Amino acid sequence: CGIFGAYSHTEDVSMMTYLGLYALQHRGQESAGIAVTDGAWMDVSRGMGLVNEVFRHQIPHMDNQYIAVGHVRYSTTGSSLLANTQPLMVNYAGGKISLAHNGNLTNAAQIRREMEEQGNIFQTSIDSEVFVNLIARSKAASIEDKIIESMKKIEGAYCLTIMTEDKLIGARDPHGFRPLCIGRAGDTWVLSSESCALSVAGVHYVRDVEPGEMVVIDKHGLKSYKFATVEKKAACIFEYIYFARPDSIIDGQSVHEARFMMGRILARESKFKGDIVISVPDSGTTAATGFAYESGIPFVEGLIKNRYIGRTFIQPTQKKRDIAVKLKLNPIVSVVKDKDIIMVDDSIVRGTTSGKIVRMLRKAGAKSIRMCVSSPPIGYPCYYGIDTSVRKELIAATKTVEEIREYIKADALHFLSLEGLKASIQSASSDDMCCACFNNYYPVESPKNDTVGADK
Ligand code: 5GP
Ligand code: SF4
Ligand code: MG
Repeated sequence: CGIFGAYSHTEDVSMMTYLGLYALQHRGQESAGIAVTDGAWMDVSRGMGLVNEVFRHQIPHMDNQYIAVGHVRYSTTGSSLLANTQPLMVNYAGGKISLAHNGNLTNAAQIRREMEEQGNIFQTSIDSEVFVNLIARSKAASIEDKIIESMKKIEGAYCLTIMTEDKLIGARDPHGFRPLCIGRAGDTWVLSSESCALSVAGVHYVRDVEPGEMVVIDKHGLKSYKFATVEKKAACIFEYIYFARPDSIIDGQSVHEARFMMGRILARESKFKGDIVISVPDSGTTAATGFAYESGIPFVEGLIKNRYIGRTFIQPTQKKRDIAVKLKLNPIVSVVKDKDIIMVDDSIVRGTTSGKIVRMLRKAGAKSIRMCVSSPPIGYPCYYGIDTSVRKELIAATKTVEEIREYIKADALHFLSLEGLKASIQSASSDDMCCACFNNYYPVESPKNDTVGADK
């Protein structure tokens, strides 16, 4: 998911949030929502689809609005419903709050069951709802303390943007799994999942929210609270590989620089030779250019991506994914015909896309296809907010590299080593990163019961 928040007495906060969510669209295409307040009223507008579809006719607006929060969502099967869209908005004894969440809570099902046994009612099937319930039930005096008390009960991955009638609040879990940064221009403040959304909102990057930190923005400016001691940072390394946009900087590391370096290291590790380097656009492109730079083999566009497919089209069922690949990618015959090709992509999850692309290229006359992947094999599920939670679907969970090569019918296959991946992250400490889907070392215990809809 992508989350955003804006606080300003001079700028149009709902328009800033709309534009911010537009720039975070890659983080979720299933639904979008914006909540705004003028200090007395709070209103939320949510719908299924892309940001420009949900707000085609109207962007939420109040005359004296000055705080807004927004959300774009990506979910797993079953929970892609209007009722599960965010921001969540509730009235409680102390007033109103709206909340947007990115990440996956690992003990949400357990907390929810306990609360339901005590008579609490839940209106959605998303883990994020336990937050608003815990906050509403908290006996702490201030909203800050209510939120901190709730966060202390919750485990797993979360970045939050929360709005009250007079405050914009942001928080990042003690491991810092998901990114969240702060932007500013004078008295205008922004919170955003990624820095790529700051310039369109008209603010400049200030810093990232630290793991275990909550920031509160109100008429006095920004105040920081450390709500947890950080034993081990575990920022998601997959953000750098695939999820984030290359023009974002997360925890001081440019996503583009990391991907380019992954490609360079891939060239050194694989030693593959060929006539051309092509990428699987868009996610494989930055690494492919790094491969070409390092190897001296020219990068050429060999596959064209149809840019007009809303990713909403790519629903989480196998049949729909099958059609989607053909509609999404098509080879340029004159480029690939009779060539020895090195094809770079960022990851292999299920192996189905990669297999189809290899077949497509052969049909277009490619002589040979050597595939390079700018991440290690994904052998283990993610419980912290990336859509690789079903282990049986992960091809690397049951197949060796040679078996995967055979399955996708490539002439050769090389995955970036974990050491190579870590070495490509040069401006941030790779020791502070989660690599659980690659090395089976989980910073937070996995959920015992997966009944609550996963939320990305
Ligand atoms: P596969 O060959 O495993 O079927 O597909 C690999 C492709 O899936 C890669 O191009 C990669 O960019 C993409 N991918 C990796 N993770 C995700 C994800 O969480 N969601 C979506 N929609 N695509 C992903
Ligand atoms: Fe990221 Fe993988 Fe860790 Fe999930 S398990 S948070 S995808 S590094
Ligand atoms: Mg891709």
